[in-house]
Amino acid sequence: MSIFEYCREALARGLVEICFTPHLEVDPRRRHIDWFVRVDGKIEPMESERWLERYFQDLEEARKEFSSAGLRVKAGLEVGFERGAEAAVEKVAARYPFDFVLGSIHCLEHQAISSRRECREYFAHKNLDAVAKDYFGALKEAVDSGLFDCIGHLDLYKRYGGEFFGREINDLHRGRVEDIFRAMARKGTGLEVNTSSRRRGLTEFHPSTDLLALAKKAGVRIFTVGSDAHRKKDLGYCTREAVQLLKEMGLRVCAFVLRKPVFL
Ligand SMILES: [Zn+2]
Repeated sequence: MSIFEYCREALARGLVEICFTPHLEVDPRRRHIDWFVRVDGKIEPMESERWLERYFQDLEEARKEFSSAGLRVKAGLEVGFERGAEAAVEKVAARYPFDFVLGSIHCLEHQAISSRRECREYFAHKNLDAVAKDYFGALKEAVDSGLFDCIGHLDLYKRYGGEFFGREINDLHRGRVEDIFRAMARKGTGLEVNTSSRRRGLTEFHPSTDLLALAKKAGVRIFTVGSDAHRKKDLGYCTREAVQLLKEMGLRVCAFVLRKPVFL
């Protein structure tokens, strides 16, 4: 779908803001799998950055077209964090005027835990302790890197992890995430409430309410809400509910402008 089509859909759904967060993948070992982007219907290598030039051109056009209709169009980026590839992220983030840079852990040991097919390669060979060590180790490094405005879908390992480890996966964060939340609070790093879990059959958002409560307790104050839409029909799905949940928890929802949080 084009940026224009998503903007039209956002207006039709009564949204006042849309932030695009195309993926930037930086793990050299996954170059042959992930480092591609679709431009004008054609698959291009991500390394050329031609797609980023085009992305900002399209956003500019969309802003001209839709601002008078009351839609704010934001330039975001979702980075799949990979240790050792921080410089590549820094370079891209410094070169373009992003509103919002989201950092997410998609891969552990170079396998995508976000993918039903690939996650088996990882989960089937690990015990829960090892998963926790890998995931929260990577998360800590992502936070410490200072590269990200927010951390995306923090407990993504629950998407398929339950099929391998049962309900114990729900407690994986205990005793492991608290220090990371305290570091996020110190740095002013925010947390995304990602609603994609709800259209995949999970009952809670990413992260779940118990994690949000721990984040609050640790002093995290910046929370964004996103539907992580990869299709037009998913745009804004359950986001009102997520906003409501944050409000009920006494937390405020943020949007970002040129990488600065604005409380709504
Ligand atoms: Zn993601």
